[in-house]
Amino acid sequence: MALEPCTEVPNQIKTDIPILKERGQREVFCGLTGIVWLHRKMQDAFFLVVGSRTCAHLVQSAAGVMIFAEPRFGTAILGERDLAGLADANEELDRIVDQLLERRPDIGTLFLVGSCPSEVIKLDLAKASERLNQRFFPKVRILNYSGSGIETTFTQGEDACLGSMVPVLPNSYDEPSLMIVGSLADVVEDQFQRLFEKLGIGPVYFFPPRRASKLPPVGKGTKLLLAQPFLSDTVRSLIARGATLLPSPYPFGIEGTTAWLKTAADAWHIDSSQFEQAIAPSVNRAKIALERYRQTLAGRKAFLFPDSQLEIPLARFLSRECGMELVEVGTPYIDRLLMESEINLLPVGTALSEGQDVEKQLDRCRQAKPDITVCGLGLANPLEAEGMATKWSIELVFSPIHGYDQAADLAELFARPLERRRRLTV
Ligand code: SF4
Repeated sequence: MALEPCTEVPNQIKTDIPILKERGQREVFCGLTGIVWLHRKMQDAFFLVVGSRTCAHLVQSAAGVMIFAEPRFGTAILGERDLAGLADANEELDRIVDQLLERRPDIGTLFLVGSCPSEVIKLDLAKASERLNQRFFPKVRILNYSGSGIETTFTQGEDACLGSMVPVLPNSYDEPSLMIVGSLADVVEDQFQRLFEKLGIGPVYFFPPRRASKLPPVGKGTKLLLAQPFLSDTVRSLIARGATLLPSPYPFGIEGTTAWLKTAADAWHIDSSQFEQAIAPSVNRAKIALERYRQTLAGRKAFLFPDSQLEIPLARFLSRECGMELVEVGTPYIDRLLMESEINLLPVGTALSEGQDVEKQLDRCRQAKPDITVCGLGLANPLEAEGMATKWSIELVFSPIHGYDQAADLAELFARPLERRRRLTV
Protein backbone atom coordinates (compact mmCIF):
# COMPACT_ATOMS: atom_id res chain seq x y z
CA MET A 1 0.00 0.00 0.00
CA ALA A 2 1.32 3.38 -0.97
CA LEU A 3 0.53 4.94 2.37
CA GLU A 4 2.74 2.71 4.48
CA PRO A 5 5.79 4.59 5.78
CA CYS A 6 8.86 3.97 3.69
CA THR A 7 11.07 1.27 5.18
CA GLU A 8 13.73 1.18 2.47
CA VAL A 9 15.90 3.81 4.11
CA PRO A 10 17.04 3.88 7.74
CA ASN A 11 14.21 4.99 9.96
CA GLN A 12 16.23 7.61 11.76
CA ILE A 13 16.39 11.36 11.77
CA LYS A 14 19.05 13.57 13.22
CA THR A 15 16.65 15.93 14.96
CA ASP A 16 14.79 15.11 18.14
CA ILE A 17 11.40 15.71 16.54
CA PRO A 18 9.02 12.90 17.49
CA ILE A 19 6.55 11.79 14.81
CA LEU A 20 2.99 10.86 15.60
CA LYS A 21 1.89 8.06 13.29
CA GLU A 22 -1.84 7.73 12.77
CA ARG A 23 -4.08 5.39 10.82
CA GLY A 24 -7.78 5.94 10.45
CA GLN A 25 -10.34 7.75 8.35
CA ARG A 26 -8.72 10.06 5.82
CA GLU A 27 -9.89 13.16 3.97
CA VAL A 28 -7.69 13.23 0.87
CA PHE A 29 -7.92 13.18 -2.92
CA CYS A 30 -6.93 10.17 -4.99
CA GLY A 31 -4.08 10.35 -7.50
CA LEU A 32 -6.36 11.08 -10.46
CA THR A 33 -6.28 14.76 -9.46
CA GLY A 34 -2.69 14.99 -10.74
CA ILE A 35 -4.07 14.88 -14.28
CA VAL A 36 -5.33 18.43 -13.83
CA TRP A 37 -1.84 19.96 -13.65
CA LEU A 38 0.04 17.28 -15.60
CA HIS A 39 -2.03 17.71 -18.77
CA ARG A 40 -1.29 21.43 -18.72
CA LYS A 41 2.42 20.75 -18.36
CA MET A 42 2.84 18.14 -21.13
CA GLN A 43 1.13 19.68 -24.08
CA ASP A 44 1.15 16.68 -26.39
CA ALA A 45 -0.10 14.17 -23.83
CA PHE A 46 -3.63 12.84 -23.28
CA PHE A 47 -4.79 11.19 -20.06
CA LEU A 48 -7.45 8.54 -20.47
CA VAL A 49 -8.82 7.42 -17.12
CA VAL A 50 -10.22 3.91 -17.21
CA GLY A 51 -12.76 4.17 -14.46
CA SER A 52 -16.31 4.84 -13.35
CA ARG A 53 -18.60 7.85 -13.45
CA THR A 54 -17.29 8.75 -9.99
CA CYS A 55 -13.79 9.12 -11.44
CA ALA A 56 -15.09 11.24 -14.33
CA HIS A 57 -16.93 13.49 -11.85
CA LEU A 58 -13.84 13.83 -9.68
CA VAL A 59 -11.56 14.89 -12.54
CA GLN A 60 -14.18 17.26 -13.93
CA SER A 61 -14.84 18.97 -10.63
CA ALA A 62 -11.14 19.28 -9.84
CA ALA A 63 -10.49 20.74 -13.30
CA GLY A 64 -13.35 23.25 -12.95
CA VAL A 65 -13.86 25.47 -15.96
CA MET A 66 -10.99 23.80 -17.82
CA ILE A 67 -13.37 21.11 -19.03
CA PHE A 68 -14.77 23.58 -21.57
CA ALA A 69 -11.41 24.15 -23.26
CA GLU A 70 -11.09 20.87 -25.22
CA PRO A 71 -9.02 19.32 -22.48
CA ARG A 72 -6.49 16.57 -23.00
CA PHE A 73 -8.07 14.19 -20.52
CA GLY A 74 -11.16 12.05 -20.44
CA THR A 75 -12.67 8.95 -18.87
CA ALA A 76 -13.42 5.63 -20.53
CA ILE A 77 -16.33 4.73 -18.29
CA LEU A 78 -16.59 1.12 -17.26
CA GLY A 79 -20.26 0.20 -17.57
CA GLU A 80 -22.15 -2.39 -15.58
CA ARG A 81 -21.51 -5.01 -18.29
CA ASP A 82 -17.76 -4.47 -17.94
CA LEU A 83 -17.93 -4.66 -14.18
CA ALA A 84 -20.01 -7.83 -14.34
CA GLY A 85 -17.42 -9.34 -16.68
CA LEU A 86 -19.94 -9.76 -19.52
CA ALA A 87 -18.18 -7.51 -21.98
CA ASP A 88 -14.56 -7.80 -22.97
CA ALA A 89 -13.28 -4.60 -21.41
CA ASN A 90 -10.05 -4.88 -23.43
CA GLU A 91 -11.89 -4.82 -26.73
CA GLU A 92 -13.91 -1.83 -25.64
CA LEU A 93 -10.80 -0.02 -24.49
CA ASP A 94 -9.10 -0.62 -27.86
CA ARG A 95 -12.16 0.72 -29.63
CA ILE A 96 -12.19 3.89 -27.52
CA VAL A 97 -8.46 4.45 -28.04
CA ASP A 98 -8.93 4.02 -31.82
CA GLN A 99 -11.66 6.63 -31.85
CA LEU A 100 -9.72 9.01 -29.65
CA LEU A 101 -6.48 8.87 -31.64
CA GLU A 102 -8.34 9.28 -34.90
CA ARG A 103 -10.14 12.35 -33.61
CA ARG A 104 -7.10 13.90 -31.93
CA PRO A 105 -4.03 13.58 -34.20
CA ASP A 106 -2.18 16.07 -31.95
CA ILE A 107 -1.70 13.42 -29.23
CA GLY A 108 1.91 12.21 -29.00
CA THR A 109 1.70 10.30 -25.71
CA LEU A 110 -1.38 8.61 -24.31
CA PHE A 111 -1.51 7.70 -20.63
CA LEU A 112 -3.97 4.99 -19.65
CA VAL A 113 -4.73 5.85 -16.05
CA GLY A 114 -5.93 3.08 -13.75
CA SER A 115 -8.60 3.72 -11.10
CA CYS A 116 -10.22 1.82 -8.22
CA PRO A 117 -12.81 0.10 -10.47
CA SER A 118 -10.26 -0.90 -13.13
CA GLU A 119 -8.05 -2.32 -10.39
CA VAL A 120 -10.88 -4.18 -8.70
CA ILE A 121 -11.89 -5.94 -11.91
CA LYS A 122 -8.18 -6.55 -12.57
CA LEU A 123 -8.10 -4.90 -15.95
CA ASP A 124 -4.44 -5.19 -16.94
CA LEU A 125 -3.55 -1.74 -18.30
CA ALA A 126 0.15 -2.62 -18.64
CA LYS A 127 -0.79 -5.35 -21.10
CA ALA A 128 -3.27 -3.04 -22.81
CA SER A 129 -0.62 -0.38 -23.37
CA GLU A 130 1.81 -3.00 -24.70
CA ARG A 131 -0.83 -4.19 -27.14
CA LEU A 132 -1.76 -0.67 -28.22
CA ASN A 133 1.89 0.37 -28.60
CA GLN A 134 2.35 -2.39 -31.16
CA ARG A 135 -0.23 -0.64 -33.27
CA PHE A 136 0.42 3.03 -32.64
CA PHE A 137 4.10 3.44 -31.69
CA PRO A 138 6.15 5.45 -32.80
CA LYS A 139 3.43 7.91 -33.85
CA VAL A 140 1.85 7.69 -30.42
CA ARG A 141 3.45 6.24 -27.30
CA ILE A 142 1.07 4.56 -24.88
CA LEU A 143 1.99 4.42 -21.19
CA ASN A 144 0.04 3.44 -18.11
CA TYR A 145 -0.03 4.15 -14.38
CA SER A 146 -2.45 3.97 -11.49
CA GLY A 147 -4.14 7.04 -10.01
CA SER A 148 -6.55 4.99 -7.92
CA GLY A 149 -7.53 5.92 -4.40
CA ILE A 150 -6.51 2.43 -3.28
CA GLU A 151 -2.91 3.01 -4.31
CA THR A 152 -2.32 6.74 -4.45
CA THR A 153 -3.01 9.92 -2.52
CA PHE A 154 -3.33 13.21 -4.42
CA THR A 155 0.18 14.24 -5.55
CA GLN A 156 1.32 10.61 -5.63
CA GLY A 157 -0.54 10.58 -8.96
CA GLU A 158 2.28 12.71 -10.38
CA ASP A 159 4.82 10.32 -8.91
CA ALA A 160 3.08 7.39 -10.59
CA CYS A 161 2.83 9.25 -13.91
CA LEU A 162 6.50 10.28 -13.98
CA GLY A 163 7.48 6.82 -12.80
CA SER A 164 5.77 5.32 -15.85
CA MET A 165 7.99 7.44 -18.11
CA VAL A 166 11.31 6.52 -16.47
CA PRO A 167 11.78 3.20 -18.32
CA VAL A 168 11.39 4.93 -21.71
CA LEU A 169 13.79 7.83 -21.04
CA PRO A 170 16.73 7.73 -23.48
CA ASN A 171 20.19 6.76 -22.18
CA SER A 172 22.60 9.62 -21.62
CA TYR A 173 25.61 7.39 -20.97
CA ASP A 174 28.09 9.43 -18.91
CA GLU A 175 27.31 12.96 -20.02
CA PRO A 176 27.11 15.15 -16.86
CA SER A 177 23.75 16.86 -16.62
CA LEU A 178 21.25 18.22 -14.13
CA MET A 179 17.70 16.91 -14.11
CA ILE A 180 15.04 18.92 -12.28
CA VAL A 181 12.39 16.44 -11.23
CA GLY A 182 8.79 17.48 -10.57
CA SER A 183 6.37 19.55 -12.60
CA LEU A 184 6.84 23.30 -12.40
CA ALA A 185 4.76 26.07 -13.93
CA ASP A 186 6.35 27.12 -17.23
CA VAL A 187 7.08 30.61 -15.93
CA VAL A 188 8.97 29.18 -12.94
CA GLU A 189 10.85 26.74 -15.16
CA ASP A 190 12.02 29.68 -17.32
CA GLN A 191 13.18 31.62 -14.24
CA PHE A 192 15.20 28.66 -12.99
CA GLN A 193 16.62 28.03 -16.44
CA ARG A 194 17.90 31.62 -16.54
CA LEU A 195 19.48 31.28 -13.07
CA PHE A 196 21.21 28.02 -14.02
CA GLU A 197 22.55 29.69 -17.15
CA LYS A 198 23.85 32.59 -15.09
CA LEU A 199 25.56 30.14 -12.78
CA GLY A 200 27.09 28.20 -15.65
CA ILE A 201 25.30 24.94 -14.75
CA GLY A 202 24.19 22.70 -17.57
CA PRO A 203 22.87 21.03 -19.52
CA VAL A 204 19.67 21.24 -17.47
CA TYR A 205 16.66 19.05 -18.26
CA PHE A 206 13.22 19.39 -16.75
CA PHE A 207 11.21 16.25 -16.02
CA PRO A 208 8.34 16.16 -16.89
CA PRO A 209 9.17 18.01 -20.11
CA ARG A 210 6.75 20.37 -21.85
CA ARG A 211 6.33 17.84 -24.64
CA ALA A 212 6.14 14.22 -23.59
CA SER A 213 7.80 13.30 -26.89
CA LYS A 214 10.95 15.23 -25.84
CA LEU A 215 12.03 13.08 -22.92
CA PRO A 216 15.20 14.00 -21.00
CA PRO A 217 18.11 11.54 -21.11
CA VAL A 218 19.24 9.72 -17.95
CA GLY A 219 22.42 7.87 -17.01
CA LYS A 220 25.45 7.78 -14.73
CA GLY A 221 26.22 11.46 -15.23
CA THR A 222 22.70 12.62 -14.32
CA LYS A 223 22.35 14.54 -11.06
CA LEU A 224 18.82 14.81 -9.71
CA LEU A 225 17.52 17.94 -8.02
CA LEU A 226 13.93 17.61 -6.84
CA ALA A 227 11.46 20.42 -7.31
CA GLN A 228 8.66 18.50 -5.59
CA PRO A 229 8.82 16.41 -2.43
CA PHE A 230 6.32 13.72 -3.40
CA LEU A 231 8.29 11.77 -6.01
CA SER A 232 9.55 8.80 -4.00
CA ASP A 233 9.05 6.08 -6.62
CA THR A 234 10.21 8.20 -9.55
CA VAL A 235 13.43 9.10 -7.76
CA ARG A 236 14.18 5.50 -6.90
CA SER A 237 13.57 4.43 -10.52
CA LEU A 238 15.87 7.21 -11.77
CA ILE A 239 18.55 6.14 -9.29
CA ALA A 240 18.16 2.58 -10.56
CA ARG A 241 18.97 3.94 -14.03
CA GLY A 242 22.28 5.34 -12.77
CA ALA A 243 21.33 8.89 -11.67
CA THR A 244 22.55 10.42 -8.39
CA LEU A 245 20.25 12.29 -6.01
CA LEU A 246 21.40 15.69 -4.73
CA PRO A 247 19.59 15.89 -1.37
CA SER A 248 18.36 19.40 -0.71
CA PRO A 249 15.60 21.46 0.85
CA TYR A 250 12.90 22.36 -1.70
CA PRO A 251 12.79 25.69 -3.55
CA PHE A 252 10.01 27.29 -1.50
CA GLY A 253 10.73 30.73 -0.10
CA ILE A 254 14.00 32.62 -0.34
CA GLU A 255 15.95 30.37 1.97
CA GLY A 256 14.69 27.15 0.35
CA THR A 257 15.43 28.43 -3.15
CA THR A 258 18.94 29.54 -2.19
CA ALA A 259 19.69 26.19 -0.54
CA TRP A 260 18.34 24.36 -3.60
CA LEU A 261 20.38 26.36 -6.10
CA LYS A 262 23.45 26.10 -3.85
CA THR A 263 23.15 22.31 -3.88
CA ALA A 264 23.41 22.35 -7.67
CA ALA A 265 26.15 25.01 -7.63
CA ASP A 266 28.25 22.91 -5.23
CA ALA A 267 27.84 19.83 -7.42
CA TRP A 268 29.13 21.92 -10.34
CA HIS A 269 31.94 23.46 -8.20
CA ILE A 270 30.75 27.00 -8.75
CA ASP A 271 32.64 29.38 -6.46
CA SER A 272 30.72 31.24 -3.74
CA SER A 273 31.26 34.75 -5.07
CA GLN A 274 29.87 33.84 -8.49
CA PHE A 275 26.93 32.19 -6.76
CA GLU A 276 26.20 35.18 -4.55
CA GLN A 277 26.44 37.51 -7.50
CA ALA A 278 24.06 35.47 -9.62
CA ILE A 279 21.33 35.23 -7.02
CA ALA A 280 21.64 38.66 -5.33
CA PRO A 281 19.19 40.65 -7.51
CA SER A 282 16.46 37.98 -7.18
CA VAL A 283 17.03 37.60 -3.43
CA ASN A 284 16.80 41.34 -2.83
CA ARG A 285 13.60 41.64 -4.83
CA ALA A 286 12.06 38.70 -3.02
CA LYS A 287 12.98 40.04 0.44
CA ILE A 288 11.24 43.35 -0.21
CA ALA A 289 8.14 41.64 -1.61
CA LEU A 290 7.92 39.14 1.24
CA GLU A 291 8.21 41.67 4.06
CA ARG A 292 4.65 42.91 3.63
CA TYR A 293 3.15 39.47 4.22
CA ARG A 294 5.59 38.62 6.96
CA GLN A 295 4.06 41.39 9.01
CA THR A 296 0.61 39.79 8.69
CA LEU A 297 1.84 36.27 9.43
CA ALA A 298 4.49 36.72 12.15
CA GLY A 299 3.50 35.34 15.52
CA ARG A 300 0.37 33.63 14.15
CA LYS A 301 -0.28 29.94 14.76
CA ALA A 302 -0.56 27.49 11.84
CA PHE A 303 -2.00 23.97 11.80
CA LEU A 304 -1.43 21.87 8.67
CA PHE A 305 -3.59 18.86 7.84
CA PRO A 306 -2.06 16.12 5.65
CA ASP A 307 -2.78 16.44 1.95
CA SER A 308 -0.02 16.88 -0.61
CA GLN A 309 3.33 16.05 1.09
CA LEU A 310 4.21 19.72 0.57
CA GLU A 311 3.36 20.36 4.22
CA ILE A 312 6.85 19.97 5.73
CA PRO A 313 8.68 22.31 3.30
CA LEU A 314 5.82 24.82 3.55
CA ALA A 315 5.86 24.67 7.34
CA ARG A 316 9.60 25.32 7.25
CA PHE A 317 8.97 28.39 5.07
CA LEU A 318 6.14 29.64 7.28
CA SER A 319 8.14 29.32 10.47
CA ARG A 320 11.61 30.45 9.35
CA GLU A 321 10.74 33.10 6.81
CA CYS A 322 7.31 34.32 7.89
CA GLY A 323 7.76 33.98 11.66
CA MET A 324 4.73 31.71 12.18
CA GLU A 325 4.35 29.30 15.06
CA LEU A 326 3.70 25.69 14.02
CA VAL A 327 1.07 23.91 16.07
CA GLU A 328 1.02 20.64 14.10
CA VAL A 329 2.42 19.68 10.73
CA GLY A 330 0.51 16.74 9.26
CA THR A 331 1.64 14.96 6.11
CA PRO A 332 0.24 11.85 4.43
CA TYR A 333 3.60 10.14 4.15
CA ILE A 334 7.21 10.82 5.14
CA ASP A 335 10.02 9.52 2.94
CA ARG A 336 13.33 10.09 4.75
CA LEU A 337 15.33 9.98 1.54
CA LEU A 338 13.43 12.98 0.22
CA MET A 339 12.59 14.81 3.43
CA GLU A 340 15.64 14.62 5.68
CA SER A 341 17.04 18.04 4.68
CA GLU A 342 13.67 19.65 5.36
CA ILE A 343 12.91 17.98 8.69
CA ASN A 344 16.27 19.17 9.97
CA LEU A 345 15.20 22.77 9.35
CA LEU A 346 11.97 22.61 11.36
CA PRO A 347 12.08 24.28 14.76
CA VAL A 348 12.79 21.85 17.60
CA GLY A 349 9.53 20.86 19.24
CA THR A 350 7.40 20.94 16.07
CA ALA A 351 4.58 18.38 16.32
CA LEU A 352 4.89 16.25 13.19
CA SER A 353 2.24 13.71 12.26
CA GLU A 354 2.20 11.12 9.49
CA GLY A 355 -1.01 9.57 8.17
CA GLN A 356 -4.38 10.58 9.54
CA ASP A 357 -7.20 9.81 11.90
CA VAL A 358 -9.31 12.77 10.91
CA GLU A 359 -11.61 13.01 13.94
CA LYS A 360 -8.72 12.91 16.41
CA GLN A 361 -6.82 15.45 14.37
CA LEU A 362 -9.83 17.75 14.22
CA ASP A 363 -10.09 17.58 18.02
CA ARG A 364 -6.43 18.57 18.36
CA CYS A 365 -6.96 21.39 15.89
CA ARG A 366 -10.02 22.77 17.71
CA GLN A 367 -8.22 22.64 21.00
CA ALA A 368 -5.16 24.49 19.66
CA LYS A 369 -7.28 27.26 18.09
CA PRO A 370 -4.77 28.06 15.30
CA ASP A 371 -4.94 31.37 13.45
CA ILE A 372 -4.81 29.52 10.16
CA THR A 373 -5.59 25.92 9.26
CA VAL A 374 -4.27 24.47 6.01
CA CYS A 375 -6.56 21.68 4.86
CA GLY A 376 -8.42 20.09 1.96
CA LEU A 377 -11.71 21.35 0.55
CA GLY A 378 -13.74 18.80 2.51
CA LEU A 379 -12.69 20.27 5.84
CA ALA A 380 -12.31 23.94 4.93
CA ASN A 381 -15.89 25.19 4.93
CA PRO A 382 -16.99 23.24 8.02
CA LEU A 383 -14.01 24.67 9.91
CA GLU A 384 -14.76 28.17 8.63
CA ALA A 385 -18.30 27.72 9.97
CA GLU A 386 -16.77 26.91 13.35
CA GLY A 387 -14.96 30.25 13.24
CA MET A 388 -11.52 29.13 12.03
CA ALA A 389 -9.60 30.72 9.15
CA THR A 390 -8.58 28.11 6.58
CA LYS A 391 -6.38 27.84 3.52
CA TRP A 392 -7.33 25.30 0.85
CA SER A 393 -4.27 23.19 0.31
CA ILE A 394 -5.17 22.31 -3.30
CA GLU A 395 -4.27 25.85 -4.36
CA LEU A 396 -0.71 25.19 -3.27
CA VAL A 397 -0.43 22.53 -5.95
CA PHE A 398 -2.15 24.50 -8.71
CA SER A 399 -0.38 27.85 -8.20
CA PRO A 400 3.20 28.74 -9.14
CA ILE A 401 4.88 28.82 -5.71
CA HIS A 402 8.49 27.80 -6.35
CA GLY A 403 11.45 30.14 -6.58
CA TYR A 404 12.42 33.66 -5.53
CA ASP A 405 9.87 35.54 -7.58
CA GLN A 406 7.02 33.50 -6.13
CA ALA A 407 8.10 33.66 -2.44
CA ALA A 408 5.82 36.63 -1.72
CA ASP A 409 2.94 35.05 -3.68
CA LEU A 410 3.33 31.94 -1.55
CA ALA A 411 3.18 33.94 1.68
CA GLU A 412 0.20 35.83 0.32
CA LEU A 413 -1.74 32.59 -0.11
CA PHE A 414 -1.58 32.21 3.68
CA ALA A 415 -2.01 35.88 4.50
CA ARG A 416 -5.13 36.26 2.34
CA PRO A 417 -7.58 34.30 4.54
CA LEU A 418 -6.39 36.27 7.58
CA GLU A 419 -6.79 39.54 5.72
CA ARG A 420 -10.27 38.55 4.50
CA ARG A 421 -11.28 37.69 8.04
CA ARG A 422 -10.02 41.05 9.28
CA ARG A 423 -11.98 42.91 6.62
CA LEU A 424 -15.19 41.01 7.29
CA THR A 425 -15.02 41.60 11.02
CA VAL A 426 -17.03 44.59 12.21
S1 SF4 B 1 -9.96 6.37 -8.68
FE1 SF4 B 1 -11.08 5.59 -6.89
S2 SF4 B 1 -10.96 7.22 -5.36
FE2 SF4 B 1 -10.43 8.13 -7.37
S3 SF4 B 1 -12.37 8.92 -8.15
FE3 SF4 B 1 -12.13 6.86 -9.02
S4 SF4 B 1 -13.23 5.55 -7.57
FE4 SF4 B 1 -12.89 7.50 -6.50
